[in-house]
Amino acid sequence: MALNNILYSVVRNRCPKCHQGKVFQKDNPYKLKYLFKMESECSHCGERYEKEPGYFFGAMFVSYALTALVFFIVLVLDFTIFHLGLSLLLILIPAVLILSPVTFQWSRLIWLNFFIRYNPESVKR
Ligand SMILES: [Zn+2]
Repeated sequence: MALNNILYSVVRNRCPKCHQGKVFQKDNPYKLKYLFKMESECSHCGERYEKEPGYFFGAMFVSYALTALVFFIVLVLDFTIFHLGLSLLLILIPAVLILSPVTFQWSRLIWLNFFIRYNPESVKR
């Protein structure tokens, strides 16, 4: 199923086409020194990740949606379980800041998966 392939690629930091090569150099987004370090192409199938200059501009909109999802989840938890009221902001802002490295990398991986389909037979050119 396509959604499983996308989730695998995003969560495991793998090439959307072959699921073998890495997209970001380090799997752990909290190694902040390597947060922005991406491979230029897949080491397994040779798929180029940045198709043109500014290709990842659209990933900002994915990042916005992911951040809105975090807000929504925290709000639902507040309305149903915690009932914190305005002090909810004391949880919301740190939650968004702490999750921002994950949001950054996942938004680029999701953006790549919009345009590259999984093909298990892909091999290096
Ligand atoms: Zn690949």
